[in-house]
Amino acid sequence: MTTREGGCLCGAVRYKVEGDPIVSGACYCRDCQYVAGGAAAYGSMYPAAAVTVTAGKTRTHKVIADSGAEVSREFCPRCGVHLISYNGNHPEFKSIKAGTLDDPSGFESQGSIWTASAQPWHRIETELPSAERNPDPGIWQPPA
Ligand SMILES: [Zn+2]
Repeated sequence: MTTREGGCLCGAVRYKVEGDPIVSGACYCRDCQYVAGGAAAYGSMYPAAAVTVTAGKTRTHKVIADSGAEVSREFCPRCGVHLISYNGNHPEFKSIKAGTLDDPSGFESQGSIWTASAQPWHRIETELPSAERNPDPGIWQPPA
């Protein structure tokens, strides 16, 4: 089984994730723009049990997203980098921010979500599926 490792910018928080992602993509929601520094957030969704924090301890910021769901984002309390996020309605899944992998080069986006919130200067990958808000099951979310 593939094991990928990653962590925050300062190295205080480390994690590992086992197996391959269920789905990967870019989220253009307004909240992700804040966290990503303006860009979309690139992430991969895994079964929650596949994700283990192996060093340090994250803090969690919770927000009610535009979808109405409570979204939690786990970040390093020392350097502030966001590593892991999950939807309170689907705690069985966790998403890893692609940029926090030790080797992000293997990330493959399968589509874009929340493009209705994208900025005029974002360049959405038009050759991939996209959804204006949360996607239809099968495009982005794992089957219910
Ligand atoms: Zn850190």
